Amino acid sequence: MTLSPTAEAPTPPSAAEDGVWLSCIDCEASFAPFDAVRYTCDDCGGLLEVRYASPASLSDFEGSGVWRYADALPLDGGVSIQEGATPLYRVPDLADDVGVETLRIKHEGMNPTGSFKDRGMTVGVAVARELGVDRLACASTGNTSAALAAYGSRAGMETLVLLPAGKVAAGKVAQASLHGARILEVDGNFDACLDLVQALADRGEAYLLNSLNPFRLEGQKTIGLEILERFRADHGTFPNRIVLPVGNAGNTAALYKAFRELVAAGDLAVDEVPKLTGVQAEGAAPMVEAIENGADEIRRWDDVETRATAIRIGNPVNAPKALPGIRETGGTAVAVSDVEITDAQRDLAEAGIGVEPASAASFAGLRKLRDDGVVGEDEQIVCLTTGHLLKDPDAAAAAGTDPEPVPSDLEGVLDHLAEQP
Ligand SMILES: *Cc1c(COP(=O)(O)O)cnc(C)c1O
Ligand SMILES: [Zn+2]
Repeated sequence: MTLSPTAEAPTPPSAAEDGVWLSCIDCEASFAPFDAVRYTCDDCGGLLEVRYASPASLSDFEGSGVWRYADALPLDGGVSIQEGATPLYRVPDLADDVGVETLRIKHEGMNPTGSFKDRGMTVGVAVARELGVDRLACASTGNTSAALAAYGSRAGMETLVLLPAGKVAAGKVAQASLHGARILEVDGNFDACLDLVQALADRGEAYLLNSLNPFRLEGQKTIGLEILERFRADHGTFPNRIVLPVGNAGNTAALYKAFRELVAAGDLAVDEVPKLTGVQAEGAAPMVEAIENGADEIRRWDDVETRATAIRIGNPVNAPKALPGIRETGGTAVAVSDVEITDAQRDLAEAGIGVEPASAASFAGLRKLRDDGVVGEDEQIVCLTTGHLLKDPDAAAAAGTDPEPVPSDLEGVLDHLAEQP
């Protein structure tokens, strides 16, 4: 296994501020982090990532939540609503059922607005404040808009969200609305919304807080740091595999970056790096296609469909960062059907863990890879569940049991209960 870029602590270029700078993943050009609004490389248009002169070590961290990891982040503090520090549930029955040695569920639905997007926003909105911008914007399948609305509002900034009309779960629109975002319903899919909001950002209309923004991914790195710390405290070792749903592949890229930085800090041996294993819905699986074909670039899917609306994405913007992450950690990618996703949502719910459909994709993917023999019975695995059940109440109600009408008297209720269900 080889781990490319940032695996060695680089020398800070002249553009660095306090040992932090932005670097292009394609041409290695470097830029000052906070001198101007910039999302991609000035020279070649490549994706940017945040680099640090001194890699932070697991032994340096103090406190709880995302800002516990301030030494691994570009700022000392942010616009915080106590994000992070989410549970890593034990699920021995599910581990037995799937047939793996250890399974833990990292439930990111337990963040303030109910998804991991909060981890990126606490950092991203703080950077926006540092840059002095006054209007924030994102395209979203729902959760990014909920998080942006909450964090932007807390920071006293105007927020603009572009959503694909009719394709966003009810809970998420309600959140964006109550937290005061201006909601633009676009007659197109998520990828069209992202094209539009990028064009607006390029014209200086708003600061872009999609995961193309490298600062958001820094916040999302803390998912990986929390998993590794907690898992080792409980099991004496790191998990050998992390299975996660993939939409724009921001988390895949962020976890890979967290691992490379820990390798650089000497906290993680190269052969201890968890295998990043991405799961997509069959109707929106360009990353799976690229992994299966050994392609360096993804092919944009113009028609995408799945019940897991949070990952209904045909053009994952972070693919250039995430494909090497999956390959270099020895992981893989797999597609699951909507039926498999709903079954997995029910399995998790039976263990008391309420997740939205996209989140259940990780567990559905694990089951499939175990059945196919790709995942072995001796593995120690963490599945990431990305969003809360209440995000998509319609999907939950459709997957769950139906209410039974009864009369409002005891006899009637007893008679009803005596009937076979
Ligand atoms: C945003 C989101 C995803 C996709 O995450 P990426 O980092 O874009 O791959 C998955 N699940 C949920 C619930 C999300 O909100
Ligand atoms: Zn470049």
